[in-house]
Amino acid sequence: MKILKSILLVLTIISTLNFNAQTDEDVLKTIYKQSLTNGKSYAWLNHLSNQIGSRLSGSLGAERAVEYTKEELDKLGLDKVWLQPVMVPKWVRGSKEYAYIESEPGKTTNVNICALGGSVATPALGLKAEVVEVKNFEELNALGAENIEGKIVFYNRPMQADLVNTFEAYGGCVNQRYQGAAEAIKYGAIGVIVRSMNLRMDDLPHTGSMTYDNLPVDRRIPSAAISTNDAELLSTMLKLNKNIKFYFKQNCKQLNDVQSYNVIGEITGSEYPNEYMVVGGHLDSWDLGDGSHDDGAGVVQSMDVLRLLKESGITPKRSIRVVLFMNEENGLRGGRKYAEVAKQKGENHVFALESDSGGFTPRGFSFDCNDAAFNQVLSWQPLFKPYLIHYFEKGGSGADVGPLKTETNVLAGLRPDSQRYFDHHHASNDTFDAVNKRELELGAATMTALVYLFDKYGVNPIANAAPIKD
Ligand SMILES: [Zn+2]
Repeated sequence: MKILKSILLVLTIISTLNFNAQTDEDVLKTIYKQSLTNGKSYAWLNHLSNQIGSRLSGSLGAERAVEYTKEELDKLGLDKVWLQPVMVPKWVRGSKEYAYIESEPGKTTNVNICALGGSVATPALGLKAEVVEVKNFEELNALGAENIEGKIVFYNRPMQADLVNTFEAYGGCVNQRYQGAAEAIKYGAIGVIVRSMNLRMDDLPHTGSMTYDNLPVDRRIPSAAISTNDAELLSTMLKLNKNIKFYFKQNCKQLNDVQSYNVIGEITGSEYPNEYMVVGGHLDSWDLGDGSHDDGAGVVQSMDVLRLLKESGITPKRSIRVVLFMNEENGLRGGRKYAEVAKQKGENHVFALESDSGGFTPRGFSFDCNDAAFNQVLSWQPLFKPYLIHYFEKGGSGADVGPLKTETNVLAGLRPDSQRYFDHHHASNDTFDAVNKRELELGAATMTALVYLFDKYGVNPIANAAPIKD
């Protein structure tokens, strides 16, 4: 018995020594291997997408997603798992929208639209009016009330196709969707139609949030997105005859706020438990598809980061939290609530990473941090080279982790390949079949690797930065 005990002790020491002797290259290899051969992200996404479905804030889907992800985190043997209450807005689409272009009385062509999130309904019998097409707010302002009053404003600025980063193209267009109604109301417009934020020509309308800038309810006008094909059709028909009319009917409604939750799990740090590192995505989604890319992918990848750390035999020095934020899409209440509570409790958040750019092949990260921290990141670049991760740039991070920003911490966003993202974004084809298992798993591994490195070397201590390897 004594001999057996001694042997066991020796074996334990050897295995500990072995792990300590592991280089960062070895650890990353283990992490990627674990994710690609033993990952859970794809199975979790399958359930979230195909058993639960869309998860708009306040919906039954959102509620079930909270329960499911909490249950799954409970199974991982983390140190803590809990729900953080947050009140969220509840907007419902109602029955499917209906729209057509009327080129002359009785002659109509149906088109594909969907209400924008937060929009009011049309009158019960729908809304029919002439259409004014503009590309931007300058054109709208130049036209003025005399040309706009009593009409539907049609915003038709396409996403810029020559930008390789499609998020830039989105950024250059999305003010039409978000602010379009509030601007058109100033000139007496009675409705708004917006070209979908989509680089592809197809028949799918893409929803997304919009604002009325707190205008009283009786001044609000219905706003909808139209598919890219139908935007082209409408534009062409308007060029032939500017007197054509557009009809649409939508039945959406803003209800009272309801109770919901952020879902949080934690591995408590072994050396610096009061330093927190967050990895997360948003649990809510739009209602047209099942939100597999936006942001089911980010949710399951973030959950798997904690599991992959454990499976790879890594004991984090700092407290690592997975946070599944509620209500990113139409309110950001979850992100704000998490930061508010962290502040109240005086929790020191040294690092936060969000995955909210789709479950496509990871290319790297974007960092919101100071130069010292960024240089530290650059020194790790060679470690990622075998996994074709090369994009390390300063820039934004993620909407949900944004409120955690301090002068010294590091916020980061996973940056997958973005070419196909806006084919699916906020549309009915954001579904499970559009996500590739290996691409999703590579993303989870890439996130885990970055968390491992920041936990090991700490944030920002220049002297401690990992040695540069070639
Ligand atoms: Zn998202």
